[in-house]
Amino acid sequence: MSTHAPRTAQPVALPATLDEAVAALAAEPAAVPVAGGTDLMGDVNAGSLRPAALVGLGRLGELRGWEYRDGHAVLGACLTHARMGRPDFAALIPALAAAARTAGPPQVRNAGTLGGNIITGAATGDTLPVLAALEAHLVVVGPEGSERGIPVGHLLAGRERLRPAELLAFVRVPLLHAPQTFLKATGRTGPARALASVSVVLDPVRREVRCAVGAVAPMPLRPLEAERWVASLVDWDGERRLPPDALAAFGEYVGAACVPDPEPGPEGGEPAELSPALRHLRRTVAALARRGLGRALS
Ligand SMILES: Cc1cc2nc3c(=O)[nH]c(=O)nc-3n(C[C@H](O)[C@H](O)[C@H](O)COP(=O)(O)OP(=O)(O)OC[C@H]3O[C@@H](n4cnc5c(N)ncnc54)[C@H](O)[C@@H]3O)c2cc1C
Repeated sequence: MSTHAPRTAQPVALPATLDEAVAALAAEPAAVPVAGGTDLMGDVNAGSLRPAALVGLGRLGELRGWEYRDGHAVLGACLTHARMGRPDFAALIPALAAAARTAGPPQVRNAGTLGGNIITGAATGDTLPVLAALEAHLVVVGPEGSERGIPVGHLLAGRERLRPAELLAFVRVPLLHAPQTFLKATGRTGPARALASVSVVLDPVRREVRCAVGAVAPMPLRPLEAERWVASLVDWDGERRLPPDALAAFGEYVGAACVPDPEPGPEGGEPAELSPALRHLRRTVAALARRGLGRALS
């Protein structure tokens, strides 16, 4: 991806290992890491970012794959959307593969990475509701071999941040061996940002249905009461099917939780009403949640 914006050349480091990348960031505190550049170069082109130096992550082979550890998949932060969309990855974490397949046009999916999607943390980031529903943990590495884990929800909510010279290295995702879905509404055909997205994950061991809704708020929302209610209806030892009216009720529950009614007006005033646009958004979320759960249980 090229840029016309910078007028002075920035130093670019191209480390070959994670340790070298962290050392390069520690040596130049103003340096910014760049993975696929699909978000970062947009900011540079728009003139909203002028990095003094760049640390390219493209040569860090150790962050481009995944391995299995303690019932989890440990995903490298530099996995591209295109790689996550392939069938072998889809067999492992189907909802994340489905999200990756919808994240922009092919040239963006070939370059854009899981780590970049998380660190940008856009409301419309497609992997984010899936990671929230999976309750993924981020593994962050820093200078002198330091390593710490952060629940993905803490980073997205701004409760935790990366410290200077830290990099997101891996994303730890539980392997649930059960159906999971990701559905996205864009309002048009072809690749586009989400107006709303919903991920539904079944966790038969914990007997949980976990759901996260993307794009309707700055970070993915978990409708916890709706999750608990619907999980109590599922026959976990039997067929795990729900009748259409239960699926529809789950959709309504999720829609109302994630696109809530406005606060009541002052005493004596008109009762506050959802605007037509928000009513439509609530219906969209409800439809995605109903379909997502229906597919997970079918
Ligand atoms: C035309 C277009 C369409 C798009 N459509 C979608 C879409 O439909 N859905 C969607 O979700 N996204 C979409 N995107 C956004 C983008 O492609 C994704 O967010 C992508 O995953 C970003 O990854 P990247 O590797 O390109 O990140 P970069 O641009 O390289 O980096 C983004 C940010 O993350 C930081 N960073 C990157 N990796 C690390 C790391 N390992 N540790 C610490 N910091 C790091 C960078 O410093 C920067 O701040 C679109 C982008 C474009 C240009």
